[in-house]
Amino acid sequence: MTQVLVYFDRVEAHLTPAQAELLTHADALGEVVVVTGSLPGEGQSSAAPLAVKGVTGVLTGSDPVGSPILPPDPALAELITAAAKELDPELILGTDTPDSVDALAATAVKLEAGLITGATGVTASGAATKTVLAGTWHTTAQISGGNAGPLVATLRPNTASQPEPAAKEPEVVELPVAASSAVQVLKQQPLPKSGRPALTEASTVVAFGRGVEGDLALVEQLADELGAALGASRVATDAGWIDHSAQVGQTGVTVSPQLYISVGISGAVQQKAGMQTSGIIVAINKDEDAPVFEIADFGVVGDLNEVLPQLMESIREIRACKA
Ligand SMILES: Cc1cc2nc3c(=O)[nH]c(=O)nc-3n(C[C@H](O)[C@H](O)[C@H](O)COP(=O)(O)OP(=O)(O)OC[C@H]3O[C@@H](n4cnc5c(N)ncnc54)[C@H](O)[C@@H]3O)c2cc1C
Repeated sequence: MTQVLVYFDRVEAHLTPAQAELLTHADALGEVVVVTGSLPGEGQSSAAPLAVKGVTGVLTGSDPVGSPILPPDPALAELITAAAKELDPELILGTDTPDSVDALAATAVKLEAGLITGATGVTASGAATKTVLAGTWHTTAQISGGNAGPLVATLRPNTASQPEPAAKEPEVVELPVAASSAVQVLKQQPLPKSGRPALTEASTVVAFGRGVEGDLALVEQLADELGAALGASRVATDAGWIDHSAQVGQTGVTVSPQLYISVGISGAVQQKAGMQTSGIIVAINKDEDAPVFEIADFGVVGDLNEVLPQLMESIREIRACKA
């Protein structure tokens, strides 16, 4: 049976949607062991969040390794490498987040293994599918040559269903790897939480552009109504209407949610590059010739200030009927 090592930089009280989905992918491929920098719990750590179908064991360091407030600890790659030497897996998988990609890239170098990031699927024989060239091509790639070590791959969110829970908590084994970060934190201050999901992991994204003219009230209401993340075009982030981290596109983040609602965005090629692999694209724009309509599954030609209130009213009516 294929051995699959799944890497999470840390596990908190609840798995993130992307972590949970990754375990669904892994369970379909073979026998799954998770290696993680840290588990939840003070003193006595717990693997309860990893009580998921297919997970047979958990490996950690002798101390928690890595921290959300520090730069990625090089010991994370050591930990994954030690786990790989223990298990000799055919596949090492991680979520497609920057910290995870960093640690897995360093691991691939240590193991002289091949690395494929941003995959949408992986087979048990080590072939990975991904979309490339700004979402215009699907490719299937396989690492060959070299010492043909394990395939190291990161998988994009929103590419699998949530996994089934398991009755039993997996056993935790400590490996002799300790934290090594030489960085000292001088000051830390949490930013106010929006309560919205992370943009790159959200299953629904409401994105806005110049058309909102700096007034975010309606797009924020729609995002809250749908439990969506807020994204934006470069014009909107350059204008300072929202932080640059919300920029979707060629020089921003790439998102692939199940539903992407584009509001007052023209759909320039640089914007499309970051969102055109979304499951369903809904575009609201007052210009019927806006390029965004070329890739939209559903388009509404109209003024967003009229369309959005009607859209939210309809959503509430449908919910009330179903309740
Ligand atoms: C190297 C490079 C990298 C870039 N990277 C990115 C990137 O990562 N992401 C990105 O987004 N852009 C990027 N851009 C910029 C990109 O080319 C466009 O300029 C930008 O996406 C346009 O933003 P916009 O659609 O908000 O604005 P506009 O192109 O001005 O479009 C605004 C749209 O809103 C519509 N509108 C106006 N009022 C309303 C209303 N009341 N109701 C409904 N619709 C309305 C208009 O019809 C129009 O289609 C990049 C450009 C370059 C050169």
